[in-house]
Amino acid sequence: MEPWGEPEEDISSGLWALPGLVDGHAHLAQGGVEIRPGDLDGAAALAKMALGAGVGLILDKGWRDLTVVHLIDKVPAAARPEIEAAGVVLTVESGFWEGFGRNVAPGDIGNMAAVAAGEGAGWIKLIGDWPRKGVGPVANFAEEELKEAVAAAREQEARVAVHTMAREVPSMAVRAGVDSIEHGLFLTDDDVEMLGARGGCWVPTVLQMEATIKQLGERSSGGRLLLEGVENVKARLATAVEAGVHVLTGTDLAIGTHQVASEAIRLWELGMAAPAVIEAVSWSGFRATGRPVGFDVGSPANAVLFSEDPVSNPRVLADPAAVIRMGRIVS
Ligand SMILES: [Zn+2]
Repeated sequence: MEPWGEPEEDISSGLWALPGLVDGHAHLAQGGVEIRPGDLDGAAALAKMALGAGVGLILDKGWRDLTVVHLIDKVPAAARPEIEAAGVVLTVESGFWEGFGRNVAPGDIGNMAAVAAGEGAGWIKLIGDWPRKGVGPVANFAEEELKEAVAAAREQEARVAVHTMAREVPSMAVRAGVDSIEHGLFLTDDDVEMLGARGGCWVPTVLQMEATIKQLGERSSGGRLLLEGVENVKARLATAVEAGVHVLTGTDLAIGTHQVASEAIRLWELGMAAPAVIEAVSWSGFRATGRPVGFDVGSPANAVLFSEDPVSNPRVLADPAAVIRMGRIVS
């Protein structure tokens, strides 16, 4: 029992352990998408619920304010999963929900990325493209600007995530050196090769994409584009993993972080091999963010335990037998 410190009782017999589930694209401040600012108490409650469901690491991909950054300071680490967060998302005029993010003026991306890196907790988030009426998704930033954002973030050891659903933007973002591609419906083989070589992340958020398709209607131009994109995602999942990309499960706004197992199960239903699915919802997220994983003596005493091997039955991910955080059983 040493690997977990000294738990009060032996609860591990006959159980399978993972270091924790990972939500690679969360929005803990959600609930205020429209006009309200993020709600710190609500976000803290969501984080606590996620911990109870076995989530050990949350990568929050930004909001309209710094609610989640404040949450990290206010809620003790033992009472929540580990959290890294982008602060206020960066976009351009007409490049996202009106008034939601911070609009970058031409020529100002380096400064604004530096400010965002200073405010965030390990990440900055750029809205790489956004639909314009009658045109479909259009790039918000030039490749050079993405490069500037990456350079500015690097100076403060922050990582860069880029939201993209357009055809040409994933390739621009990968070439620009970003760390994580959010949605990335139109990643190409060359992109995953390049992204994998540097151990980058891809968070396809398929449940969110399917929800958006439903919202838009399958026969609308946007719906058709996203349907094609989801087909491309299915075709790229295996090659991305082979190339070394950290493919991660992410909930976005489709489901709560505590339900991240559903995204893993959906990836499995879409044809991702079970061992790769387990990587995506756990190990890969810890590795991608430089965290030690494994159950050796001296490793963090964090674990989520299952009554069945999740590799044989990924559905068990939704029903953990026990959760251990910093050496204590939390549920
Ligand atoms: Zn999102």
